[in-house]
Amino acid sequence: MNNVKKSIEPLRGFRELTPEEYKKKKFIIESISELFEKYGYGEVETPTVEPLSLIELKVGEEIRHRMFRFKDLGDRDVVLRPEGTISVARLVVNKMKNEPLPIRVSYVANMFRYDEPQKGRYREFTHIGFEHFGSRSVVSDIEVINIAIEALKKIGIEAFRIKLGNEAILRRILSEANIEQKEQDLLLGMLDRGENEEFFEKLSEKGEEKILNVFRELMKTKESSIGESEQTLKKILAEFPAALEEYERVRIIENFLEWKVGGKYYFDFGFARGLEYYTGIIFELYVPELGVAVGGGGRYDSLCKLLGRDLPAVGFALGVDRLMLSSQVKTAKQKSKKVGVIILEEDVETIKYAFQVVEQLKEVENLNLEIDTMGGSLGSKIERALKKNEEAIVIIGKKEQTEKHVSVKRLRDGVQKSFGYEELKREILEFIGQ
Ligand code: AMP
Repeated sequence: MNNVKKSIEPLRGFRELTPEEYKKKKFIIESISELFEKYGYGEVETPTVEPLSLIELKVGEEIRHRMFRFKDLGDRDVVLRPEGTISVARLVVNKMKNEPLPIRVSYVANMFRYDEPQKGRYREFTHIGFEHFGSRSVVSDIEVINIAIEALKKIGIEAFRIKLGNEAILRRILSEANIEQKEQDLLLGMLDRGENEEFFEKLSEKGEEKILNVFRELMKTKESSIGESEQTLKKILAEFPAALEEYERVRIIENFLEWKVGGKYYFDFGFARGLEYYTGIIFELYVPELGVAVGGGGRYDSLCKLLGRDLPAVGFALGVDRLMLSSQVKTAKQKSKKVGVIILEEDVETIKYAFQVVEQLKEVENLNLEIDTMGGSLGSKIERALKKNEEAIVIIGKKEQTEKHVSVKRLRDGVQKSFGYEELKREILEFIGQ
């Protein structure tokens, strides 16, 4: 018996949502999708199962070790996708060749990572993301950050912080020390995991004292505005013209954020993200009630080239499951009223008439109908309707069917009224109270 019970539990880190829970998730997804659409991002769909070779291209060490990978029946190495950007980039490269640039696409998709389950960390979770392809302009960086902020606001989140960093600066400094891209990926992966000691150890093996010092200084910019660390940064970066150029770009972004959200952002130039495809600005969103990021993104100008077309890109993804945990999320007020439908006699003509009435009432805006299918006496049916918070019940028996009438009982005060079939649709809302 015990075994049976155990075997029907979901796997660790996988979740089930009740209608009440799912309603919150759906609200978040629908609100944010609507916003994406307003900014011109069209929704796409990509496969849940992908070739290992595609995802391995650039997913980064951290996620690589946490993938659900297996051989399919055709002996192919496949994975349940751990993220969406690589697949979306492939779709854009292969299928949207003739679209004018920039190409804006969005997606809602479940992701799979063998993370250690805890609050806000699951093995299957939903990303709602969007990607902007074809532009190198700082305006596209700003558009993406701006939409990410708007998305939080749209679902009621006003208290948040944006953490920004820049992988172009880090990579340009590392390139200066002749550190190849593969090794850069490894080093930045260490920063992402907070393994700073290992990072410095590895870097010192290169014997580049100057670079080591630069990184020590960069680490000190944690939680700062650029203004605060401007002198330090300018001094450090003066010797790396390529990085300095990127720094000017970051200044524009900072200026925008100061105007848009005031003090709700900070820079950390020692910050890197685990995904290997980032090449420029990177950012994450935090809400004070959760210790983990609710979203992350950045610029990735070389990923599409690997897939066959040289397209710069910038994108962002929010974790819907984490947003659900935020106490700030305000789902829209339930405007719709619940009305129960009680069929008194289960003979075929009454059933047909009841469904005809339901069909009619479906057209009344903000009215949700629930047909009582549980049997029992009228009294027990009314009791159930009250438990389900229904505002009224529509009662249909043989009498109503033959006379083409419908009885409606208001549950708040027990008042009952009979309506002709034709007038019901027009008058029900007024009767039960707007
Ligand atoms: P990433 O692709 O790692 O940048 O993640 C983007 C967002 O997805 C994060 O900010 C989280 O909101 C969400 N996320 C990542 N991993 C998990 C997880 N294991 N469980 C729930 N949400 C996650």
